[in-house]
Amino acid sequence: MKFIFNLLFLSISFFFATNALSVETSPESRNTQKVQSLSGDPWNVGLPRFSFPFSGIPYEEHHGGRSKQAGSYNFSVSTNMANVLMELDPGAIRELHWHAEAAEWAYVISGQTRITLTSPDGKTEVADVNEGGIWYFPKGWGHSIQNVGTKPTQFVLVLNNGNFTEQSTFSVTDWISHTPLELLTKGLQISESTANKFPKSDGFMFTGSVNGINGAKQNTKSDRSKRSHVFELYNRKDFEKSSSGSIKLVTAKDFPASFNISSGLMRIEPNAIRGLHWHPNADEWHMVLDGEMELVVFASGGKASIERLSKGDVGYIPKGYGHALRNLSPSKPVELLVVFNSGDYQSINLVEWLSTTPAELVNINLQTSGSDLGSLPQTNPVFEGRR
Ligand code: MN
Ligand code: MN
Repeated sequence: MKFIFNLLFLSISFFFATNALSVETSPESRNTQKVQSLSGDPWNVGLPRFSFPFSGIPYEEHHGGRSKQAGSYNFSVSTNMANVLMELDPGAIRELHWHAEAAEWAYVISGQTRITLTSPDGKTEVADVNEGGIWYFPKGWGHSIQNVGTKPTQFVLVLNNGNFTEQSTFSVTDWISHTPLELLTKGLQISESTANKFPKSDGFMFTGSVNGINGAKQNTKSDRSKRSHVFELYNRKDFEKSSSGSIKLVTAKDFPASFNISSGLMRIEPNAIRGLHWHPNADEWHMVLDGEMELVVFASGGKASIERLSKGDVGYIPKGYGHALRNLSPSKPVELLVVFNSGDYQSINLVEWLSTTPAELVNINLQTSGSDLGSLPQTNPVFEGRR
């Protein structure tokens, strides 16, 4: 009796288990579920924000300039890159400092800067970076930035660590103001009265002369410091260009010092799109330099988001997430600064995937037939929509 009861119990369990299983795996019901979830409120549900209204947050004022920052602490999705927007008044200097846990990439939005960068070989590179130029400071190397123009300069820093904050910067003045006097007098071979002149706290920024700092000892004996750490992104020829948009791109191939960051300047013409694609090897950080656009992200699991970014706002797309950008304006182009946390730029475009895969396979996947997809572009249009 007990045996029969067990058998009955088992068959009932099996009946429910197989039924449950068929709900889980039948392709029809999976499709139905997906359609149902998308027919509700499909956008932005259960997802973090992929854009940050950076243009709206206030600057922090410093002596000779101002700055504001975004990272994983206020923009949770940006786990691998943080950014700082900084302005220096004419002559002002961002003091000598280094970053323990991040390399620093930067793009000069306006004005003229002069950077110094000191390598572990004890060599210092001094270089001017003007509007449209970029620099790359390896993790831990000492550096400074000065505005050597007559107008304020504005530049955006991207640090390849989402936890980065300006408060975790290692500054020379912070260090010497927290060092026993004897270590300073002996180590630097200076008198006590000189050491007593040193700042008593972190300076962060200083005012200086617009003539700029000159006279650094240039020395190029080692390979490490022979490499230039500055590059003119703006003067690059277009990597992609069509009537719908263009992108200038700099990878480690062209700018070897920047071995783990590549970057680009993108333009999307009115009504055009940067088509559906993903990056297999890197997160994407971007900032709108001009115009207004829509960022559409596909996050798998039936989740997707649509967000709008204005000039000065920041977007972040984790590695592998599908995405596209739309310029909704009929008259104004979108200008975009794009940074990837890999020196090797890779992307796969949906249109390219579909047009290079055997047509029969694509037709079965997309439930199309015959000439339905005959108009798929055979080239690989990165930008589309403007005719
Ligand atoms: Mn720095
Ligand atoms: Mn992208």
